[in-house]
Amino acid sequence: MTRALELAWGVGSDRGLRRAVNEDSFLATPPLFLVADGMGGHEAGAEASRAAIEGFRALAGRDSVSVEEIEAAFVDAVAGVSAIVTERAAAGTTLAGAAVCEQGGEVYWLVLNIGDSRTYRLQGGTLEQISVDHSAVQDLVERGELAQEDAERHPERNVVTRAVGAGSVGVPDYWLLPARAGDRLMICSDGLPKELSFDQILEALRAEVSPQAAATRLVHEALVHGGRDNVTVVVVDAHGALDETDDEQTQPVASPVPSTQTKESTW
Ligand code: MN
Repeated sequence: MTRALELAWGVGSDRGLRRAVNEDSFLATPPLFLVADGMGGHEAGAEASRAAIEGFRALAGRDSVSVEEIEAAFVDAVAGVSAIVTERAAAGTTLAGAAVCEQGGEVYWLVLNIGDSRTYRLQGGTLEQISVDHSAVQDLVERGELAQEDAERHPERNVVTRAVGAGSVGVPDYWLLPARAGDRLMICSDGLPKELSFDQILEALRAEVSPQAAATRLVHEALVHGGRDNVTVVVVDAHGALDETDDEQTQPVASPVPSTQTKESTW
C-alpha cells in the first residue's frame, strides 16, 4: 500500500540590503525542500551552498526518499563542498530542510539540519521550530547562560559550530515526523530570524494561504526590517495524505494524477 502526499510550495530568495552577493541556495523539487547558506566570503560561499544542493539533485523528482539515500546524498554534498578551493578560509555551508520519506506505508517529513538555517512546522495554527541551531549562541541558550529571546541580538549570533565543509566533519541532525494534511513547513536561512521575531513569522505563515505568497511576504518583511543578510524562504504545504486501498492499487491508472504543485524552482 502506498500513500500519496499532495504538495504545494513557494520560494523566495534575496541578496538583502547589505550583502554584495547572495550566498544562499535552495532546492524546492519534491521530495526535497532544502536551503543552504554558504560561508567563505565572496563567491566561495555561493559556490559552497550550490555544491551542497547539487549533492541532493539526483534525488529530485522522486515520490519519496529513504533515510539511507539522504545520508548518501549528504556524503556527496560534503565531497562537492570540500572540492572547492579557496585562497582564504575553507568554504562551507549550512544545510537545512525536509524530504518526503516513506516507511512502512506511512509518509514522513525527514527533517535534516547542519548549521543555523532552520526548519519550522505550522500545524493546527501552532508554529514549532523543528531544527536546533548548531551555533555558539544556541550552546549558550542550552547551558542556561543566554535567554532565547536575546539570541538573535548576541554578538556571536553568526558563529556556526557545525557545517558542511569549512573544516567541519559533523553530520546533520535528523527528525522523522509523520506528515499530516494541513502541515506547513517553512525552511529559511538565518537572514529571516535575524530580522523577524517568532511571532512575526507565525503571523505571516498563518495569514497567507498560498505558500508562494507566504514565502514572498517573509522575504519582503526581512528586507523591510533591515535585510542585513541574504534571506531565503521555502514554504511547503501538505494538502492531503491519501490512503489507497489494495483494490485501488491494482487498477490501472488511466491518466496522470493532477498535480497541485504551483512552483518548481532551483537556483
Ligand atoms: Mn546567512
